[in-house]
Order: sequence, then structure tokens, then C-alpha cells
Amino acid sequence: MSKESGGILLSDPGTYNYLLLVLLLLFLLFVSLYVLRRKKKRLNALLDHIVEVFEKAFDISEDAILILSNENKVVYANRSMIKLLGLSEDYRGKDLVHMPQIRNHETLLPLDIFVNQEYRGDKTQMQTYPQSFLLLDDAEEEIPVNLYLDSSEGRYSGESWCKIIYMHDLRKEIKHETVSRRHQLTQLPNQAQLQIDLNALFAKNHLDKKKLALVLIDIDNFTMLRSIIGHEQANRILIKFSEYLMHLPTSLNIKVYHTHHNNFLLTISNIEEVDEVTSLIREIQKELTMFYKIEDVRLYLTASVGIAIYPDSATRRTLLDRTYQALATAQKQGYGKCEVYMPEAIRQDYDELLLFNEMHEALEKEEFEVYYQPIVTTSEQEVVGAEALIRWNHPKYGLIPPTVFIPIMEKTGFIIELGEYILEEVLKQMKRWELFKFKEIQISINVTLLELERKGFAEYVSKQLLHHQINPERLKFEITEGYAMRSERLTRQEIWSLKKLGVSIALDDFGTGYTSFAYLKKFPADIVKIDKTMVDYILTNKEDQRIVKAMIDLGHNLGMKIIVEGIENKRMFDLIASYGCDYIQGYYISKPLPVFEFQKLLR
Ligand code: C2E
Ligand code: MG
Ligand code: MG
Repeated sequence: MSKESGGILLSDPGTYNYLLLVLLLLFLLFVSLYVLRRKKKRLNALLDHIVEVFEKAFDISEDAILILSNENKVVYANRSMIKLLGLSEDYRGKDLVHMPQIRNHETLLPLDIFVNQEYRGDKTQMQTYPQSFLLLDDAEEEIPVNLYLDSSEGRYSGESWCKIIYMHDLRKEIKHETVSRRHQLTQLPNQAQLQIDLNALFAKNHLDKKKLALVLIDIDNFTMLRSIIGHEQANRILIKFSEYLMHLPTSLNIKVYHTHHNNFLLTISNIEEVDEVTSLIREIQKELTMFYKIEDVRLYLTASVGIAIYPDSATRRTLLDRTYQALATAQKQGYGKCEVYMPEAIRQDYDELLLFNEMHEALEKEEFEVYYQPIVTTSEQEVVGAEALIRWNHPKYGLIPPTVFIPIMEKTGFIIELGEYILEEVLKQMKRWELFKFKEIQISINVTLLELERKGFAEYVSKQLLHHQINPERLKFEITEGYAMRSERLTRQEIWSLKKLGVSIALDDFGTGYTSFAYLKKFPADIVKIDKTMVDYILTNKEDQRIVKAMIDLGHNLGMKIIVEGIENKRMFDLIASYGCDYIQGYYISKPLPVFEFQKLLR
């Protein structure tokens, strides 16, 4: 029966064909599955290979790479990262056991929180955090790194993000820089380091209101000495001298630099008087004459020394140059000499005693003359004021600048008499201009501390204004930053009294002294005059540009008007004007002029 029925089945051609078709389909299915499986296997092998290649490539990198999943599990870490974070070999898919911290500017956060926070917003942009710091769990020291963050979305499985963290360790570079900032022979910091340190020192001394001295020591005749005693002994002298300088027996705050071959430089900060420095130099010079011996023969060494003091002898920018100039002057006088740099004007060969003796007579003989330098608006270049600047027309020396005789007058007290003369001259002149219908402008007069400290100064000014019938609003007094800082409460009261009269007050030479911004806020000035030294290099120096712009903004924020002094050409003018400065004064508009020439300008 079964045979029969089987025979029926097989003998039926329809059934037979059907069976064949099924078999064929099954065969095809089997073959396709086989091919697909092989393909998938090959694809997986290829993927594995690619991953292996990438991992190897990442492992070569000295930079550390970490990939975290959306849930902050470690997906991948390259060799540098494994080493840096101390990960175990089976780190994949696990949490970071010791979560490192990242400090970027002032914020210190655990890495995962930092990354999450940074990626809360835009996930498509790579973010860079140069000069951040990595703080490992067990380490005390922070590791300086450049940090980069990126992310990637796994599109095949919905919202699956991973975060890519890339760190460039900066320690090697910093070490390399440190090495290149030391002198090879003595290992003392060199000129490059000096330049960096000076900026910090200026800032610090400024805050402490103390002086900073640069002392340049040059061992005399060193090339000659070297040719006699030989290269090795000469080097030994330099090393021994550097050690001596490093351990100077002094309470002064000193840092030593080996700037060049036989040149050493000391920065001495927080000094009160120059004498502290010069007496130390005498010690060094004395020591130098006897501290080196070659086989019991003492070498008589000498050194020439140049000193410049900030802020007495130079501005920040010129301080180092002045030290070299002082050294050159010392060397001109022979071996073992020391020279402190003095500003050029004082250095001139004026006979101080002669000037001192002749002052009173000069006033009677009308040798003093008031010059006027216009002050213009930056917007229209319109003359709205002028600064009265005194000149001494001396029979022997010709025109003597005020920077020479005013300090002597201050010492002798004669400045009070001269100040009265100037005020009187200016007020008379203003009245004449008024009568002859010249344009009405505001005139500034410079005053010293001695004049302000004088009892009843404001009252005296008030009387003079009344006597000459001049509107107080047309008068302005300029007080230099240096004086203003030294002024006592009494002086401040005097300034307020002047202001009450309606007279304006300008803070002169701003940027040359020690004024802190906090102080500026308290000083009752209507106008700030930014000193010429702040703009001397402004066309090329980006930092100066930023500083001056900030000063202008700050003054404005405190409700003050700003004058920039010493503008000598159009480019300077345009730049300063673009910073929103209100007025300028300088040779670009005009030098200080005698009355008759200045009048032409007013017309
Ligand atoms: P100051 O009050 O800061 O006056 C500005 C000085 O800068 C003036 O020097 C002026 O001639 C100069 N100056 C202006 N624009 C330029 C420029 O574009 N380039 C250059 N190289 N210099 C420019 P001056 O007249 O020699 O006065 C020097 C200082 O002497 C004044 O500085 C002021 O502190 C003092 N002074 C002048 N006259 C008097 C006065 O009558 N009484 C008092 N107490 N001090 C005075
Ligand atoms: Mg002035
Ligand atoms: Mg000035």
C-alpha cells in the first residue's frame, strides 16, 4: 500500500516538479546563507583589522585618547591614556575607577561632569581647552594639558553618543622651555627668563609701591683675562662668581641672571632707597678683588656696574636699556666703577647752584615765559583748551626745560612764588583774549604738591579768579600721578575746595606712577591725562594698545574725560581716536608755543 501510494506520488509529474522546486529553493537559500555568513565573517575580520590598525595608530601617539560612552563607561583608551590614568587591561565597558579632575581657568570639575557639562549644548563642534590642568586622584601636582573634546553619534542604534577626550601633555615642552631659559655654563636663568620675570616684577613692585633696581655686573677685561689663564679657568671664575651671587649675604630681595658671557644681572625688588643697592655693589666689588686664586696666586678681579631704578631712572620699557647705558658710562670711567642711570634732562651740565642763585632775579628780569600747547577734541580736532607750560629763557643756557628747574625749585620752595607768577600770567592772558574776542578755551596749569599743601591754596585761587574776573570753569589744575599718590587727606581737601569753586582737576602723567585703579576711583579728577610714555610704541605694540584702550574705558566708566598726551603723527591720532578718547595733546597738533604764535591758532 505504501509502496503503491509512494509510486502514485512519485509517478505524479506535478508533485515531482513541486518537490524539485522546493529542493532547489532550499539549496539556493542554503547557498545564499553560506555566502552571507562568509561575507559577514570577512566584514567582521575587516572591521577587526581596521579597529586594530586604528588602535595601534592611537597607541603610537604620545597624546592620550579616551572614548567614553553616553553613560561614561570606557569604550576605548590608548596606551598613553592607560598609563596616564593607570587603567587596568580589562577597562572596556567599565566605569573609571578614579575619576580625574580637570581645571580650566578657575573651575575644577571631575572629568565626566566637565565633559557632560561642555556637551550639554552643541554636540557637533570640537571644543578646545588650551592650558588646562589634569589632577589625578593620587597626585599632588597638576598636569598641564591642552584638552580637546569631541563627540560622535552612533546612528545605527538610535541616540547613542560617545565622547572623545584628547589630551596633549605639556610637561615636556615646559621642561624644554625651562632648559632653554638657563645659561648653559652656570645654569642660572638667562636673558630670556629675565624678560619674562621682569613683567611680573613690574606688576608686583607697582602694587607694593616700592622701587625695582636692575644691576648689570660686567667682569672687567674678561676676554684678555681668558687669553692669559685659559678657557677652563675663566669658566671656573664665572661659575664661582655665580655661586657667590646666588648666596649674597643680604636681606634684599634679589634674583640673579647670567645674561651673557661675563655679564650678570641682578633684579632687586622692594627697595626704598638707591643707597641700599649701591652699598651692596660696593661689597660685591670688594669681594671680587680677592675671591679667586690660581695656585695660591690671588687674581685681582674687578667689575663695572650699571644700575637703573624703576620708576626713578626709566619707564618699564626703557629700564633694561638704561641699565646697559649706565654700564657703558661706568666703563668709560675705568675699571671697577659703578654708575646709576639718571634721566637725560637732569644729567645735562646745568650748574644747579647757579640756577638756584639766579631764580629770584630771573623772575624780576622776566626771564620766565608761559608757553601754550593746544588740546583738541578727537572728533573735530577743535582747539578747546591749552596747557600752560613754563620756560626759563636763561642768558647763558638759552631755553631751559621745566624738568630741569622745577625739581630745584621744589627743593627750595621757590616753586610757590613761580606758581603764583604763572597763575597771574595765565589769568591776565585769558582776560586779554576775552576782551579781544578770541575763542574761549580752558587753560590748564600744572601744580606741585608743595603748592597744594600750602595753606589756603584754593582760597588764594578763588581770590585771583575774582580779581581777574575769570570764570572758574575755564581753569584746570593738573596734578601728576606721583604727587596725587603722595597727597595727604589735607591736600585732597584742598582739591575738593578747588572743585567746589568750579575749577577742574586733571590727573597728569597717568601710567607713569603707581596709581591703582582702586585709587583712581577715589581721586576726584574730572580728567585723566594718559602719559606720552604709554603711547610711544603704540603703533607696533599690541599690549600697549590693549592697556591704553583699557585705561580709556576705565576712565570713562568712572565718569572722567580722557586726554592722551604725546601724539606725534596722524597714525597715532587715528588709532587713539578709534579707542574713543575725548581729547589729544601733542606735536601732531602743535608744540607748546609762545603767546603770539598760539593766538594765531586760536583765530
Ligand atoms: P606735563 O605736564 O606732562 O607736560 C607735557 C609735556 O610733554 C610738556 O613738556 C610738553 O612739551 C611735552 N609734550 C607734549 N606733546 C608732546 C609730543 O608730542 N612729543 C613730545 N616729545 N613731547 C610732548 P615740558 O613743557 O618740557 O614740561 C615737562 C613737565 O614739566 C610737565 O609735564 C610738567 O610736569 C612740568 N611743568 C611744565 N610747566 C610747568 C609749570 O608751569 N608748573 C609746574 N609745576 N610744572 C610744570
Ligand atoms: Mg601737565
Ligand atoms: Mg603729562
